This record gives sequence, structure tokens and C-alpha cells, in this order.
Amino acid sequence: MEIKEQEETLVNESGLNFVEQEIKNDLAAGKNGGRLSTRFPPEPNGYLHIGHAKAFLMDFGAAEKFGGTCNLRFDDTNPQKEDMEYVNAIKEDIHWLGYDWGDRLYYASDYFPQLYDLAIRMIKEGKAYVDEQSSEEIARQKGTPTKAGENSPYRDRPIEENLDLFERMNKGEFEEGSMVLRAKIDMASDNMHFRDPIMYRIIKIPHWRTGETWKVYPMYDFAHGQSDYFEGVTHSICTLEFVPHRPLYEWFVKELADETYCPRQIEFNRLNLTYTVMSKRKLLQLVREGLVNGWDDPRMPTLRGLRRRGYTPTSIKDFISRIGYTRFEALNHIELLEHSLREDLNKTATRVSVVQNPVKLILDNYPEGQTEIMTMDNNPENLSEGTHEMPFTRELWIEREDFMENPPKKFFRLSPEKEVRLKGAYIIKCTGVEKDAEGNITAIHATYDPESRSGLPGADRKVKGTLHWVSVPTAVEAEIRDYDRLFAVENPSAEEGDFRDLLNPDSLKIRKNAKIEPWLAERLKAGDHYQFQRLGYYVVDTDSTPEHPVFNKSIGLKDTWAKEMKK
Ligand code: ATP
Ligand code: MG
Repeated sequence: MEIKEQEETLVNESGLNFVEQEIKNDLAAGKNGGRLSTRFPPEPNGYLHIGHAKAFLMDFGAAEKFGGTCNLRFDDTNPQKEDMEYVNAIKEDIHWLGYDWGDRLYYASDYFPQLYDLAIRMIKEGKAYVDEQSSEEIARQKGTPTKAGENSPYRDRPIEENLDLFERMNKGEFEEGSMVLRAKIDMASDNMHFRDPIMYRIIKIPHWRTGETWKVYPMYDFAHGQSDYFEGVTHSICTLEFVPHRPLYEWFVKELADETYCPRQIEFNRLNLTYTVMSKRKLLQLVREGLVNGWDDPRMPTLRGLRRRGYTPTSIKDFISRIGYTRFEALNHIELLEHSLREDLNKTATRVSVVQNPVKLILDNYPEGQTEIMTMDNNPENLSEGTHEMPFTRELWIEREDFMENPPKKFFRLSPEKEVRLKGAYIIKCTGVEKDAEGNITAIHATYDPESRSGLPGADRKVKGTLHWVSVPTAVEAEIRDYDRLFAVENPSAEEGDFRDLLNPDSLKIRKNAKIEPWLAERLKAGDHYQFQRLGYYVVDTDSTPEHPVFNKSIGLKDTWAKEMKK
């Protein structure tokens, strides 16, 4: 898969993407009596990721735009992998992005009786048969796109025998894998999906909703279109891999439908993101094997992972509208997603002072025991957000990286005999350092210029560097979790071998002794966003407590994407 150039939303003159335009055309043509009904059909076998968000933003979004409705339907046709845990999480995540299904919550398992009746009817009409071959045998007979398949030896068994066997399959008389119900269509069809597709297989573990009632479960192709039909769905929007399924979708629906109404399937391109994987199976593996710290690990592309990382609904929606909906598969750059987040947080995040890798700075000419209160803007991009106060004292924490004993030419931060400005406070001059026995710097000494206090005329003096700082006596210690790409390669799904070998071993760095200003320490609330001056955007983690504040780094300040765009 080529990395496709990112483009602005791919919309027409009326601001509609191609799916919305199709819907608009159908409505204008009076199809389905001018009714619009969509659905989002997650299988409750994992947590939603940002790709699913692309899908349900379309389903709910189109319904909203054209005055229709959107159902939430759990596609719970496989009791082997599904769970209530996922159902609740999926609902929460959809709500988080601002959508609601009202009273239109459905389960494919609600249709098991109707689907079973339809299967019986098809058997009676000679359109379905019980095949006793192994799955390997069935696969072998399937043929290839250029070579016709072979008929199963069971294809022409008498209707009565099919009926009897199918009913006994459902009573649990046969082992899993010993037989399946297949539609009798055409083993020579150009479309492989028409080569006598499997309608039902035997699964003996209980279903989390229907319990022991069923021992046969419908396959996706037999359940999906019918479920759409039962619900009166008019537009069944899904991803491109279902294009070859569409004729079969329509074929099965026609077994039920009259002339007046048939749901219409429309397909768009999946969201794929660089440096991550989107397959639920692989994400589950990462969680189960402890390669990440759960579904909500801030490195995961799941909606709860992104949320914990500090992503906002606005940023996710903005990103999805930028990549747009097309009929071409693409790999989307994670930098664009980060760009969307940075744009949002730049407008909204409160600016605070945090020193993540502290070293002590002592102002030798500043009176011991004195505290001055400095005033800091909460958001220079939006002054209406006001200011907050920060104590200034003789001993301060600054970043270790902001000092160099033997600096190169263009180092504008602190070094011996050089001056810098302490943000919102004074200009200081370095006078020397203290070291331990190994030669590590344990403290930096400086003097401050009392005339240079922020706001006084003496502050206008030109000094190249400005450092952030936190007062030692009032600082609160915090943990900062700094994240990098989950995978070390751009497109892990395209690589040979085990995807787990491609994980970035340095995707999580933890700093335990960051120093945060007291004003921040007083208002810690999980999920709140801040810009740490000069460091980046951070979010209060759910592990955070007043005694042990914890932050996740959401994203750095530097916008590599905006830079790319200017090139
Ligand atoms: P699987 O079917 O392999 O378990 P899935 O990711 O397709 O995984 P579903 O629960 O079936 O999971 O997905 C629900 C809906 O979300 C489907 O309509 C599917 O097309 C859509 N979807 C899934 N992944 C993406 C993606 N990466 N981009 C856009 N839509 C997606
Ligand atoms: Mg699927």
C-alpha cells in the first residue's frame, strides 16, 4: 500500500463526500419514501479504535446531516469471542465522541429466530443444503478466481434429509465442524462469494445473550444484510473489503425483500494509521501478552487509549474530516492526527510550569525566606482565560538540559557568566556550579537583577534565552509518562514475520521526579489538559492522586506536520 498524499477533505462543491452525495441523490429520488436509516454494526469482540470512529462518524453523521436515524447494532453472531465487557465499552466510546442511538439499540442475536426460519424456508425451496465435508475439503473445492469450483457430493441430497440434519445440528446432535449449512448458488460463479457460501456453522459454547438456545450460528454474510432489512436500514455503509460481498448481500436480502425496499450497501476506504496496527486480533494480542498496559494504554489506537493519551473528540473528528472518505485504500500519517490534536490543545490547554528533569538553581543575592508572587497567563492565545499566581523564591528548579558548562556557540540557555530570563520573573546570571564526587552537577548558582522584574522597565533588556522554572519549597513531585510510536516501522502490517518483533522498545519513558507548580497540584483532575511551558501538551492520567500526580504526554509542541506541509 502506497502512502497516499494527505488531502483536505475530499468533498464536492456542496461540501459532501461521495457517500453523503449518494445518500442525497437517493433521498432526492424519493427512494424508500424519502427515509434515511443507517446503522453502526460493531462486533462486541474488542474495543473500538480510531478506524471504527471513522465508520460511526459516517453512520451517525450522515443520519444527523440528512434528518435520518442511526441504529447501534451489536453484530453478536459469534459466541466464541464476544463479551458484555465490550458492549459497554463500545457504548461509552460512541458517547464520548458525541453520538447517541436513542432507543435504537439492537443485537443481531435478536434476529436468530427469523434467520433460522429463513434458512428452513430456503432448504424447503431447495436453495440450501447440509454439507458434511471438513472445512479443508470445502476450501479445496472452492476453486480460484480463474478456475471454477467443484460441487460438493452432498449438494443434491434430498430436501427432507437437509431439513432433518439442520434441525438436529441445532439440537446439538453433531460435533462442531462436522457439518455446515450452505446456500446452493453456483460453484462456477465469477464471484467467489457465490460459490455455495456457508450460512450456518455449529458452535456449542453458550451465547452471552441467548444462552443455550442455539447450537447453530449464522455467518456474517447471511446475517448482516438480513439484519439491515429487519431494521429497515436504507443505507448500509461499510468499508471497501465488503465490495465483493455486495452481490451476495443483495442476493440474500432478496430472499426476504419485496420490490419496494432493499437496503443499499455503500463502501468507503478504511482508516489505516502509520506506526500502529488496527486489527482487533493484533490489538487483543498486545493486551493479552502484556506488551501494552491494557486496552486503554496511551500508545494504543483504541478510542480509550487515545482518550487517556489526551486526544479530544474535536481533534479526532477534525483528523477524520481531513482524511475524508474515498474509494481508495490509503495509509494515513499519524503526524496529521497529532497536528489535529496540537491545533485543538493550543487553543484550549492552560499553560503551566513543570520541570521534568530538575536541577536546583540558587540565586545567591535573593533574600532567604522571601517569596514573591508572579503572575502567569493561563493562555497567551486567549487572554480572556486569565492568569494564575506562582511563587518565586531563592531556590528554583530548572531543567537540567537548560544548563551547559561548556556550551557550543548557539546555546542560548544558561551557562557560566551568561544571562537568561526566567519566564515571568527576573533576568539572572550564572556564577558557578556545585558538583558531587563523580563530577555531576548538583546545583547551579546565579545572581538575579532586581531591576529586571517582569513588567518593570529593566525587564526590556535584550536577553536571548527564556527558561521555565518552579519554586523549590512549594513544588510538588510528579510522574510523567512520555510516549513514542508503538511500532518502530511505518507500516507494521506490511512487514513479513511476527508483528510483535516490530514494536518500538522505547515507546514508554517514565520520569518520577518532575516538579510541578503548586497551582497545578491543587487542581489535578484526570483527563484535564495542560501545556507544560516549553515541553508539550500533557493530560492528567487516571492513575493520578493528590499525593502522586501522574501525567501523560499527549504531544510535543513542535509541529513536524505543519513543517512538511510548507515544504
Ligand atoms: P473484525 O470484523 O475483524 O472483528 P472489524 O474491525 O471489522 O474487525 P467490526 O466490529 O466488524 O470490526 O467493525 C464495525 C464497523 O467498523 C464495520 O462496519 C467496519 O467496516 C468498520 N471498520 C473497522 N475497521 C475500520 C477502519 N480501520 N476504518 C474504517 N472503518 C472500519
Ligand atoms: Mg468486521
